[in-house]
Amino acid sequence: MNTPWHILGAGSLGCLWATRLSRAGLPVRIILRNQQRLADYRDAGGLRLIEAEQASLFPLTAELPATDTPIRRLLVACKAYDAETAVAEVSARLQPGAEILLLQNGLGSQQAVAARWPSCRSIFISSTEGAYRRKDFEVLHAGQGQNWLGDPLDHNPPPWLAELAAAGIPCDWTDNIEARLWRKLALNCAINPLTVLHDCRNGELLAHREQLHLLCVELSLILNACNQAEAADELEAEVLRVITATASNYSSMHQDVHNGRRTEISFLLGHACRTAQQYGLKVSELNALFKRLQAFLVQHGLPQD
Ligand code: NAP
Repeated sequence: MNTPWHILGAGSLGCLWATRLSRAGLPVRIILRNQQRLADYRDAGGLRLIEAEQASLFPLTAELPATDTPIRRLLVACKAYDAETAVAEVSARLQPGAEILLLQNGLGSQQAVAARWPSCRSIFISSTEGAYRRKDFEVLHAGQGQNWLGDPLDHNPPPWLAELAAAGIPCDWTDNIEARLWRKLALNCAINPLTVLHDCRNGELLAHREQLHLLCVELSLILNACNQAEAADELEAEVLRVITATASNYSSMHQDVHNGRRTEISFLLGHACRTAQQYGLKVSELNALFKRLQAFLVQHGLPQD
């Protein structure tokens, strides 16, 4: 009998993973936050995945955090600011040696979970797939991408990686998942806050080359200080490449702010600034950007963390 996949959070990525795993014949259970969400889910009749304009319905088993079935493999598909609290709500069900897969963007939330549940194996994931919710429990697979998985404490890949590939979930194992997460964080810090403050598409940032340069210099300082030289390599060139390749897009942070949704700033730019402080680095551009962004969020009625 295959180990069931428990999916904590049935938002964009949670739905994307749950539906593909289930389609491959693997046992999947989704965990919803409360009775109201469970009732909403039952009204929806299951999860809907839309791919290439085709919708498929998956009436997967759903349960509450407090159910008593044991958990051996948990995919945490919440936002970074919800991840630790959400895992705490199911922690009594985690079996010794259980695997916790963490899909969160940025850094900080994964380390918090790994430190709090040391008897579990925490696997970090850096995802470049794209999905968004059209409505509750209905997700559009919007962008092909890749999932990098890794465990900073144990470089042996888990035996079920082939299960993911067979389920059509693009994935690769890496011995240096932190470098992947840091690189993505650095790209995000250079691009996303500026798109919010200038209220612009990615491509318009090419008008702010000097500021991008100064941010990349400071981000590289941080990456080098915390032994992530690989993630610092050619950072500015990649920032410019990403901006050019996605010139007509609005960044994810811009979209969050535009839609009145909380951002993950504390696990992105906030994490970079806190790390610089720990290492005693002078990063005046990043600190100023962080302050301006926080003030902007407060002005727009959004949390500053
Ligand atoms: P999302 O659509 O907002 O989904 C998050 C889900 O978590 C929501 O359904 C929410 O429930 C649920 N949740 C929060 N607390 C919970 C709890 N205590 N118990 C049960 N469920 C709980 O977020 P997302 O876009 O999938 O993003 C998840 C992570 O992946 C983020 O860190 C994001 O940056 C990263 N990521 C996303 C994408 C993408 O394309 N979407 C790509 C790469 C990386 P409710 O519905 O009840 O609020």
